[in-house]
Amino acid sequence: MTALPQLIDNASTEAGEPVLLPADPKANYLAHQQEIDDALALCLSRGRYILGPEVQTFEQEFADYINACECIGVGSGTDALHLALLACGVGHGDGVLTVSHTAVATVCAIDLAGAVAVLVDIDPLTYTMDVNAVEETLKCSRKGFIKAIIPVHLYGHAVDMSRITELADRYDLHVIEDCAQAHGATWRGKKVGTWGDIGAFSFYPTKNLGALGDAGAIVTNNRELAERARELRQYGWKERYNSDSAGMNTRLDELQASILRVKLRYLDEENGKRRNLATLYSAALSASSLTLPFESHETKHVYHQYVVRGSQRDILKMKLKACSIETSILYPVPVHLQCGYREKVTIGPPGLDKTEQAAREILSLPLYPELTNAKVEMVSDCILSSIGGETA
Ligand SMILES: *Cc1c(COP(=O)(O)O)cnc(C)c1O
Repeated sequence: MTALPQLIDNASTEAGEPVLLPADPKANYLAHQQEIDDALALCLSRGRYILGPEVQTFEQEFADYINACECIGVGSGTDALHLALLACGVGHGDGVLTVSHTAVATVCAIDLAGAVAVLVDIDPLTYTMDVNAVEETLKCSRKGFIKAIIPVHLYGHAVDMSRITELADRYDLHVIEDCAQAHGATWRGKKVGTWGDIGAFSFYPTKNLGALGDAGAIVTNNRELAERARELRQYGWKERYNSDSAGMNTRLDELQASILRVKLRYLDEENGKRRNLATLYSAALSASSLTLPFESHETKHVYHQYVVRGSQRDILKMKLKACSIETSILYPVPVHLQCGYREKVTIGPPGLDKTEQAAREILSLPLYPELTNAKVEMVSDCILSSIGGETA
């Protein structure tokens, strides 16, 4: 047998030193390699590849983890949001409130459902939906137009779900939580995903709970919604080969479910590691001029991202790159300024100034459970020497 050429390996510098990546799903695979390989081998030999026992068991285990009655595995986080909207009956011409400072997937799903995204600004401290802007927008919009709200628990910090659910009750809105970056995060001690009608999760490889391919799920405590979603996930079938309604095809596959079952067992431990590393960063960078992440005492932040903020963001990013430290910007262009979506969305009356300003100043530092304390110190030292201490 000839050896396959080494097509792609983790990036390295000219001197052969590995480059520090903002996220490292391969490191997470290697941390659980034996268990994952065994789980995959079992699936392959069992011969069930779509919606089999692994998916069913994962759905039960993930529902238990989130403290929800039901979980439905789907093909991606985008599909989870799309399916959630369809299950709630939100569709053509309906307004859906969300933020512009999010993965484009949130707005993509609203558009796929035929609805119109109504975008509101963020709270600059937490980078999540500004609830006052939500209230103002609801007050000004045509009665009955806005049918749903999608709070996004961005970077692992929960949105103020107490106020969101109160507004949703007052204005009769469906609440679909975008939990793609917040597996295990809580608001007032209760896991995100169970505050609204439906919680939508992505298991994209870099997420806190990541598959090794595309995957997603919705969770709900509403049995009726769960039943509808289960049908819509598969062509609207109530019975096989007979569609009761028009649906989608978005199924979680057995291989991804078996990987997720292994990784779910480590999720709390790995969220704990993320939180510890974030604490280290915050201690090391407290003397810098950067704005560091804020954590409301009402939330348990799971640090999908560790985001710093400063007016010299681009220079800092370049200097870190020169030290072989890769960083990322989530997200460089707000959705309302992207060509594909700017004509499809509407903007709430308070405007999106804070969203646009954040996009110019934010930077995600490397953070993943396998990152070492020493690496966090190395990144922090590089930042302090690049931009200086308290005077920068
Ligand atoms: C990743 C992500 C999604 C979409 O997930 P996919 O699985 O990539 O479709 C949606 N919303 C947010 C906030 C995300 O970070």
